[in-house]
Amino acid sequence: MKNVLGYSRYCLECGNEIVYGREGRKFCDCFCKNKYHNRLRNIHLSSRRQTISAIETNYEILAAMLKTGVDSISLPRLEKIGFKSTYTTAVKSIRGKTLQCMCFDIEYCQSETTIFALRRSNPFFYLEGM
Ligand SMILES: [Zn+2]
Repeated sequence: MKNVLGYSRYCLECGNEIVYGREGRKFCDCFCKNKYHNRLRNIHLSSRRQTISAIETNYEILAAMLKTGVDSISLPRLEKIGFKSTYTTAVKSIRGKTLQCMCFDIEYCQSETTIFALRRSNPFFYLEGM
């Protein structure tokens, strides 16, 4: 259905037709506009919280491994206790199918099936070249 200006517009939040206002108007009123943007912000914040939580869990698992002297473990075994291999704070290099990853100050190599060469990184590594 076309509005009085001759074109159809629908509110991005409630889906009702917008029958007045300027041509580029996206919402029927301020309530819908605020509700739409608040919902987007909450989705964004939730996604950030989940990512930070996954990285913190990974760090706790890796730190516990270091504390007990374990420097390699199978990836499926790690994933069973909550490790999410796609969450790192950095990937330093890629050699074939092996990634050299970091989770804050802990470095490790990750193949398709194993995490190995787990160690604390030198905190001054990036300052040494200066
Ligand atoms: Zn609306």
